[in-house]
Amino acid sequence: MRARDLNRFLKDMGWRSSPVAQPGTPRSPVKEVIVGDDRFAALAHSASGCTLCRLSEKRQKVVFGEGDPHAAVMFIGEGPGAEEDRSGRPFVGQAGQLLERMLFAIGLRRDQVYITNIVKCRPPGNRDPKEDEVAPCAPYLDQQIELIAPSVLVALGKPASHRLTGTTKPISALRGRWASYKGVPLMPIFHPAYMLRTPSAKREAWEDLKKIKQRLDSTARG
Ligand code: URA
Repeated sequence: MRARDLNRFLKDMGWRSSPVAQPGTPRSPVKEVIVGDDRFAALAHSASGCTLCRLSEKRQKVVFGEGDPHAAVMFIGEGPGAEEDRSGRPFVGQAGQLLERMLFAIGLRRDQVYITNIVKCRPPGNRDPKEDEVAPCAPYLDQQIELIAPSVLVALGKPASHRLTGTTKPISALRGRWASYKGVPLMPIFHPAYMLRTPSAKREAWEDLKKIKQRLDSTARG
């Protein structure tokens, strides 16, 4: 790892108190769903009326996902928080701002990736989603993956990493190691919200992000 790269990353991630370089992405550039084809639109439409689990009872908006429906990489979090529930958009709070900086650090803008969650409705009080909420929601995610056909999946944090790896190992053991989900290379990394609480984790995140970038670069070349 080059020290200069790491320093730039830490600065971009808000490690220092000095003003940081901004990703240059306007705050709300992405339409709710950029619809690539009819099947994607139909899937989003069917999710918008979903009542398959108890999370539908208290939600304000279904947070289906957003970004490029032909993205090479999909970022998958655990579930919408309060701001996401209000806006209908994934990762728009503080964790989302950090996610955008992480993307910027590997040369990506938010509208060049696809961002979603393992559950599309907000778990009350931001608790982890339960198995009987994740399971009925899984077909939406699986179809998103099938339609987008990304080269790389990134699981953000423990619930998404557990769901997609099919294990319950600690995130510290899963992060930074390639796994696969439905044949697609999968990289579990720390959730941005965890990094906001534990800034020292950003160093490991940088290592993981570099692996993702390398994989994307080699896929683009190949
Ligand atoms: N955290 C998540 O896991 N997903 C969001 O959409 C927002 C915060």
